[in-house]
Amino acid sequence: MLVQIFSKNRITLQFPGANLHLDPKLFNSKEDQFFISHAHYDHLPTKGKKPPFVPKVVCSKATAKLFNKRIRYEITPLEAFETEQFSLKTIPSGHTFDSTAAEINLKENGLKVLYTGDINIEDRAYLQGFRPKKCDVLLLEATWGHKEYSFPPFMEQVEQATNYIQTQLDHNHPVILLGYAIGKAQLLNYCFGQLIDLRFSSKIVWEMEQIHKELGLSLHPTKKLPTVIDDLPKTSPWLLFQAPSPYNSNFIQKLKKKTNCRVVGFSGWAKDLESFKHRSGADAAFMISDHSDYNKLLELAKACSPEKIFTIFGNAKKLAKDLQKEGLNALPLSSGQATLENYF
Ligand SMILES: [Zn+2]
Repeated sequence: MLVQIFSKNRITLQFPGANLHLDPKLFNSKEDQFFISHAHYDHLPTKGKKPPFVPKVVCSKATAKLFNKRIRYEITPLEAFETEQFSLKTIPSGHTFDSTAAEINLKENGLKVLYTGDINIEDRAYLQGFRPKKCDVLLLEATWGHKEYSFPPFMEQVEQATNYIQTQLDHNHPVILLGYAIGKAQLLNYCFGQLIDLRFSSKIVWEMEQIHKELGLSLHPTKKLPTVIDDLPKTSPWLLFQAPSPYNSNFIQKLKKKTNCRVVGFSGWAKDLESFKHRSGADAAFMISDHSDYNKLLELAKACSPEKIFTIFGNAKKLAKDLQKEGLNALPLSSGQATLENYF
């Protein structure tokens, strides 16, 4: 059996007669199978292109629910599936609430293919980190696949951020915590929500909070941010969970002027602190990423001990080179298609 892998429709494994698409851009065939790792836009199909059929997709219940909210049509989530050629099951990827990686077992030759999606191997708050697993082929995300990107331990950053936020609140400054609406915003709520009872969320973050609560995640309740800034409390400080976006940088500047608030960013990009603060309008920033850093990616690759690694997304070329230096058989998938059996 010839199984080919392409960076086409994001990642496609081509089997004789059917394809398996991993985090597809399009649901392009009724005959094909689909897997979605989590609900960040760069892993979802293009918005607004509803397929003429309702696809069944292997993904977690959380991913299906968030998909329905973001892409505006419904998919039916499957826990796993099996064809004559392969079986696929999910494993926690530690990136966002209930995000998953995919373990694909090829029946004819017994090869195990592991697709990470976006991944984090560190245990963080309610997130169990991805547990590396022996496999033959590893499709490894490379967001922070450059050696510049090594981050301190999660808990160390949480402690430092807690001190900063608490100090600002004690001095009567409201604090805005910037984090993506899915993943980071819930983590920030969970880690820092207890610092004060007066909490707000921007509209999208508030909506995501309600969905995550329905999914069983315990979060500190927040109020929707008032549409008029002057309606925010003036005599006591508060926290605001806000998604970062170039569209709201003016809004954040306005908030800063009117409320004397402090803005705190949370991202791996905070490694380049001054540049990150400049771009995001933050007064302080902490290296809390939902992705594993460079050193953890190397650790993960070695622990999975694969015969072949294809690096995908982000710094795929750079990471593949460095993995080669470590004696691992790695290539960026962007360099074209490959036939899985060629490596064995
Ligand atoms: Zn992601």
